[in-house]
Amino acid sequence: MIKKINCTFSDNELLLLIEGGSPAENTPPEALVKSPLFRRADAVRREVYGNAVYARGLIEFSNYCRNNCLYCGLRAENSQIPRYRLTREEIVACCDSAYQNGMRTFVLQSGEDPHFSDHEICGIVSSLKQKFPGCAVTLSVGEKSRESYQSYFDAGADRYLLRHETANGGHYAKLHPSDMTAENRKKCLYDLKEIGYQVGAGLMVGSPYQTPSHLLEDIRFMRALQPDMIGVGPFIPHGQTPFAKFPRGTLNACLRLVAVLRIFFPHALIPATTALGVVHPYGRELALQAGANVVMPNFSPLSTRALYVPYNKKTGVDGEAAANCRRLRESIAGIGYEMVVDVGNVKR
Ligand code: SF4
Repeated sequence: MIKKINCTFSDNELLLLIEGGSPAENTPPEALVKSPLFRRADAVRREVYGNAVYARGLIEFSNYCRNNCLYCGLRAENSQIPRYRLTREEIVACCDSAYQNGMRTFVLQSGEDPHFSDHEICGIVSSLKQKFPGCAVTLSVGEKSRESYQSYFDAGADRYLLRHETANGGHYAKLHPSDMTAENRKKCLYDLKEIGYQVGAGLMVGSPYQTPSHLLEDIRFMRALQPDMIGVGPFIPHGQTPFAKFPRGTLNACLRLVAVLRIFFPHALIPATTALGVVHPYGRELALQAGANVVMPNFSPLSTRALYVPYNKKTGVDGEAAANCRRLRESIAGIGYEMVVDVGNVKR
């Protein structure tokens, strides 16, 4: 069955892979990554990317958000977290530190914060492109108009991350307030693609009301979109959201989806997300063994890192960035991969 996986798959066959008919859901993750599905995923990633793991310096520059996604701790109605914004100078300083530690891509992430005008975002992007020639700038600042996306691209932004969260309109409506729609999310992704960005889609595994058919729809949607990056992490409830009491997504389900995505999207850049590190102490390493090939060490200032909390118990919020980065490099080497100094563009 594994050999056939690059060909067309029926919905039933895909569902079997997603749901984990074999290996079973309760297989220990360490054994799971040795199963045929995961070995095949690792072989595919090695064929395209060798043993390289691309690192991106993550800078979370504002935790303000105008939206109220029901799963997210940064939602506007959460009045219990202190809010912060970094200045342009602080953002550049974070990127400087990331560069010194071998990062050649900077990911600038924030909630949808109207304080940062298009003009300001363009100014930040062009400052970084001037100061760090040859490096890539990735933006992750939410849903914008096509004109805004075009202006960031013209200023030098290379990539854009916008998880679609779920391709199913009904499911999307259960996770978001009525002023947000799956249609607009998808339109944003297609706008970004048409403009020329390397585009990242993605989703949470185990989000409230999610069914295996939704995951199937996600794969079908991404097969049509052909994103360059796919972010997958488990749903982790945040205590100050309407979904506080929902159970978290499981590590195994998440790893299984990473493996399936690697096989279906051999060229995609797939991060071993920090959320995986929350559900298991070696969650990120296991994801790399399941086919992921990107890590995103956090270079936000220590003083603000603990305030960027879309979900509870985020990892990497303490400890000096350089030391965290060094530990990550060592742990990646320990499982047979290499965290490389490379801009890490998608290979098509
Ligand atoms: S998921 Fe993004 S857009 Fe939604 S509330 Fe959180 S930061 Fe804002």
